[in-house]
Amino acid sequence: IYFSKPSDMDGRVICMGLLFLIVMELIKTVGEIMRMEAEKTKAISENEAKARFLANMSHEIRTPINAVLGMDKMIIRETTEENIREYAKDIQTAGRSLLSIINDILDMSKIESGKLELVEGEYDLLSIINDCNSMINVKAQEKELKLSVNNNPIIPSRYYGDEIRIKQIIINLMTNAVKYTKEGWISITFSGQNISEDMFMLEISVKDSGIGIKKESISKIFDSFSRSDEKNNRWIEGTGLGLSITKQLVDMMGGTIEVESELGKGSEFKVSIPQKIISSKSIGLYNDKHEKKRPDENESQVLFTAYGKVLVVDDVAMNLKVFKGLLKNTGLTIDTAESGMECLRLMQQNVYDVIFLDHMMPEMDGIETLEKTKTLENNKNIDTPIVMLTANAVVGAKEQYMSLGFADYLTKPIKEDDLRKALLSYISPELIEKKQENK
Ligand code: ADP
Repeated sequence: IYFSKPSDMDGRVICMGLLFLIVMELIKTVGEIMRMEAEKTKAISENEAKARFLANMSHEIRTPINAVLGMDKMIIRETTEENIREYAKDIQTAGRSLLSIINDILDMSKIESGKLELVEGEYDLLSIINDCNSMINVKAQEKELKLSVNNNPIIPSRYYGDEIRIKQIIINLMTNAVKYTKEGWISITFSGQNISEDMFMLEISVKDSGIGIKKESISKIFDSFSRSDEKNNRWIEGTGLGLSITKQLVDMMGGTIEVESELGKGSEFKVSIPQKIISSKSIGLYNDKHEKKRPDENESQVLFTAYGKVLVVDDVAMNLKVFKGLLKNTGLTIDTAESGMECLRLMQQNVYDVIFLDHMMPEMDGIETLEKTKTLENNKNIDTPIVMLTANAVVGAKEQYMSLGFADYLTKPIKEDDLRKALLSYISPELIEKKQENK
């Protein structure tokens, strides 16, 4: 119409046509956005469901392992037969390795769903070096590998950052160094330099004389579930999650991780993470003679006698049995409760020196129970410290629990050492009679 009689047209048709096109486009775009939004919401809820599922699974799996490891500890302590003790120690090793796999899966799911957050605070680098040294020393000794721990003595001593996650990064790298080295040595070096007046680039290098990594595999080792040279390395246990978690933690801290490796000669992993300096006082040379030796399983004996009264609350009867077993021969009176309600009832009847309260319980969980204690009538334990027992390996959650009113928290499976420390710090000193330290 326009071309045959252009004069008849005054542009209205064109305008209407354009308007029509714009409206159509608008409808299409809105439709597209709505579809994308729906897909995004679905993906988020699927991811959340997955993360929830993994967190629940990890709790469900950790609870029975807790019981297995706890009972096994009792066998190690009470058996007089050497071969039975050896079997029981193998159960401990396997159980702990199962636990670390579960922790890795939980961390991975948290990272993927964006739920992993750094918990920052002030820390001494020396205590990180010491903890890592004592953890790896045992593993290195078992394989007769020489372990050397070095540091630049003039770097700052105190920083602000997520101490627990930094330890996790180092332990992952050191565990790999031990795992992938048949003979020779492994070493760790702490150094770095100032980026600005109050920021320091902390550099950690983990080196080994191990099997090394093929050139073509190096780019893949940081992917989840990826293991290099799977055919030859099948004899080494692993899930392929450690380095992926390590890299993501380093990324979250704004740092970098690099690897240099030669097949058959060894590897070096270099981590650089920026950390705020709290004290520029030089750290000095780390001397592993200060290192506290971890007590051998055989030596894990009760080192004190206490005359206090303790309440432990857990819905799993087996856990209560383990808890009582761990404190056998201490002289403590231990009351148990299988629910939050029972806990509240006992708190109205008796005065306790410390209460250990499980987190995940049906009906009333640990946090709700703690809330109820605040307004509980006839509560004889207003000032009693309450320690949270949690099977969820929530790393760095201490501040969170403390802000809720808990005095502290212990992760399950409860380590005898942690339990002992907690008791020593919460039971008043006049009720405690210490026996000789590490024999
Ligand atoms: P895994 O559980 O398999 O050890 P990681 O994610 O920690 O998983 O490591 C991924 C892969 O990187 C390992 O399977 C191994 O092939 C390789 N790797 C990591 N560290 C070393 C090392 N120090 N020496 C040789 N290979 C290593």
